[in-house]
Amino acid sequence: MPDTPLAAESSPATAPAAARVVLKPRKALPFYGRHPWVRDSAIDRIEPTSIASEHLLDLDGQVVDLLNEKGRFIARGYYNSQSRIAVRLFTWSAEEPLDEVLLRRRLAAAIGLRRQLGLEPPPGDSARERSATRLVFSEADGLSGLVVDRYGEHLVVQVTSLAFAQRVEAIVTLLRELLAPKSVVLRTEKSTAVVEGVELAEGKVWGELPAGALTIEEHGLAYEVDLHEGQKTGFYLDQRENRKAAAAYVRGGRVLDMFSYTGGFALCAAKLGGASEVLGIDGSKRAVAQANRNAELNGLASVRFEVGDGFKTLERLAAEGAQFDMVILDPPKFARNRSGVNQALMAYHRLNRSAVQLLPAGGVLITCSCSGSVTREDFQLMLSGVAQKSGRELQILDQRGAAADHPVSATCLETEYLKFFVCRVV
Ligand code: SAH
Repeated sequence: MPDTPLAAESSPATAPAAARVVLKPRKALPFYGRHPWVRDSAIDRIEPTSIASEHLLDLDGQVVDLLNEKGRFIARGYYNSQSRIAVRLFTWSAEEPLDEVLLRRRLAAAIGLRRQLGLEPPPGDSARERSATRLVFSEADGLSGLVVDRYGEHLVVQVTSLAFAQRVEAIVTLLRELLAPKSVVLRTEKSTAVVEGVELAEGKVWGELPAGALTIEEHGLAYEVDLHEGQKTGFYLDQRENRKAAAAYVRGGRVLDMFSYTGGFALCAAKLGGASEVLGIDGSKRAVAQANRNAELNGLASVRFEVGDGFKTLERLAAEGAQFDMVILDPPKFARNRSGVNQALMAYHRLNRSAVQLLPAGGVLITCSCSGSVTREDFQLMLSGVAQKSGRELQILDQRGAAADHPVSATCLETEYLKFFVCRVV
């Protein structure tokens, strides 16, 4: 086991790091606790001090050692002078070089978890072609800044750190070796350029994409996925088990799927829950067109999707006195950081309050938040406020998170971002 905390006591690195990052006094505790993000504000200095501040950019993406104020080794990671996360930590063992061997081992371990979960059929297995899974989930897999999703035989790589942006080629080579995909597509989030100071070209980086649409299957339903233009990496894989959990409460009722994207919850409610009627609403024309095609693809005539703004549509439906047996709210991320939490909670309140108006006694509200900075407790308090203001009791029947291929790292709780609640409106 290379990753032991005791290793912090041991001798210098076998492969010397480009520089040493020395922490301010009393800033080391989180890193002994294996939190992988070293903020700029925790750093006292960079050694050798001969690296003048104007040359720090040259250090960006390079391997550095993290030392406590007394100069003792704590951990090793990638440096980025342009990010608020100045160092992303990868190993707490002074003996373990941060190199391709380590990356390969981490990737293999991440894939191993998905095999264990039954989500990663071996190459050549017919189940592989139409399955989709998150193979690498950044900090939760010891690979801060890297996300890899598999859609059938095709991989989508999303890089959210400068260090991995510099190492895309190496990552693709390793993934090809480990998974033998037909193609690898690179996606970036717009915010990465700003937050990490790196621009990356998107698109296919290796192999042959499918000639027509790529179709995946989830719970026996087919969905077309657009690896280039789709949101996130193409599909919201994190809600896989929650779609099934929501469908269990449908029991033939009428369903409103708000923020429906390409129809994940809606189609599941129709097929697994036998919904008599499903209306899906999304602000994206492209998503709605895809959702309607997905409904057709599965022969589900009781489901239709329309373009609309989530807030306005809910308020309009409430004003019209519309009623549903289930309302699903799966809005986009409302808070980017802690300072946006209050405003996000107000938006969640508004949405949920309108949704409650559409539900009769006994109706089911499925409500989610994917804003990492909004805690589960914040969200529960928001629901409590909705119950109070609307004069309707809310019974929480189930609370869930993301599917197991999006694990939560106990040492980096920021990896817990998805909240999923099933509430019964009394
Ligand atoms: N429930 C979906 C995922 C939803 S992601 C699934 O299971 O796949 C959030 C969705 O909200 C996106 O599809 C996005 O297009 C949509 N969206 C963002 N802002 C919106 C708004 N103001 N009104 C309606 N839809 C919006």
